Amino acid sequence: MILCSNPSEQFKSYQSEIELAVSTVMRSKNYILGEQVSLLEEEFAKYIGTSSAIGVANGTDAIEIALRSLNIGYGDEVITVSHTAVATVAAIEASGAKAVLVDIDPNFYTLNPNQLEMVLTKKTKAVIAVHLYGNAVDLDSVLSFCKANKIFLIEDVSQAHGAKYKGKRLGSIGDIGCFSCYPTKNLGAIGDAGLVTTNNLDLANKVRMIREYGWRNRTSMFPGRNSRLDEIQAAILRIKLKYLDSDNQKRRDTAKFYYDNLSLLPIEFPKISMNVESVFHLFVINVANQKKLIDYLKKEGVMAGIHYPLPVHLHPAYKDRVVISKDMSVTEGIVKKIVSLPIYPELSHSDTKLIVNAMKKFFK
Ligand SMILES: *Cc1c(COP(=O)(O)O)cnc(C)c1O
Repeated sequence: MILCSNPSEQFKSYQSEIELAVSTVMRSKNYILGEQVSLLEEEFAKYIGTSSAIGVANGTDAIEIALRSLNIGYGDEVITVSHTAVATVAAIEASGAKAVLVDIDPNFYTLNPNQLEMVLTKKTKAVIAVHLYGNAVDLDSVLSFCKANKIFLIEDVSQAHGAKYKGKRLGSIGDIGCFSCYPTKNLGAIGDAGLVTTNNLDLANKVRMIREYGWRNRTSMFPGRNSRLDEIQAAILRIKLKYLDSDNQKRRDTAKFYYDNLSLLPIEFPKISMNVESVFHLFVINVANQKKLIDYLKKEGVMAGIHYPLPVHLHPAYKDRVVISKDMSVTEGIVKKIVSLPIYPELSHSDTKLIVNAMKKFFK
């Protein structure tokens, strides 16, 4: 079976290096927030192009802590999309703020900047731009909206480690960048992990304090969390970070093969703006017969996915809690049409050929 994503194949790519690094940590004296975390933070900040990076326990925490570091919480509103991982909205809720969800752009499937004005209120404190599928939000439009209204821009970069907007890495453009390093992500740990990036040293300090009880020298200066990153995950991420650019290039090669070979089929593709260098966390297509295609591919040995089958504002937990814009038609329309084809650095050429042939047979 060809899986949609495959972190265990990635482990095999770097197995000996990872096993050595993990056993070195186990023989060391420090298992949490030690040398490996510090080095990862330095290396990741350098890679993204920010003055600071801070390791946290997961991507949801990264967003919650980013919001709290900006003093956003109860009584405030935060704008983001409904077409995202539930985690984005769960993090807003965890901060105490209210999630206000807007529709996506019909071309790019990312936040539609034209809807921001529609949902702006006096309580709006931030926009979370979710760089979905490895593709970037139209940041120029969102940034000018944020500047004009004096609100913060938080980037959710959990699906776009290494992607660029106008030559800059995502996560270096807004006030704060938030990354998940869940195993399936472009930079994935072998367990849970997350990172926060910023060019603001005060914010970086605050994030560092919030991740460990609000401590300064073991005294809590304000209420904090436990969202520490452990040494084993940091050591693994340091190894994978070295290979992130070449792994992302392999994803782009796979994407190119799909575009070259599927473009004559009755399929639509989300567009990638000229300003963006995508890292294809997912390869999503839009088809009329989603369920039939997924079942057919399964019979051919290919596990396709749906990211995501239900907009966040229609989940039972959130339908009465979040505010939505008047028009969610693109978000609600595409969920019945999107299919994620397998994409990951270790996906072989014979596998992509098999997938392309199965697709051609289905549409014949
Ligand atoms: C994975 C993901 C998250 C959350 O990450 P966790 O590490 O699972 O908490 C947040 N936002 C997006 C867009 C994601 O894909």
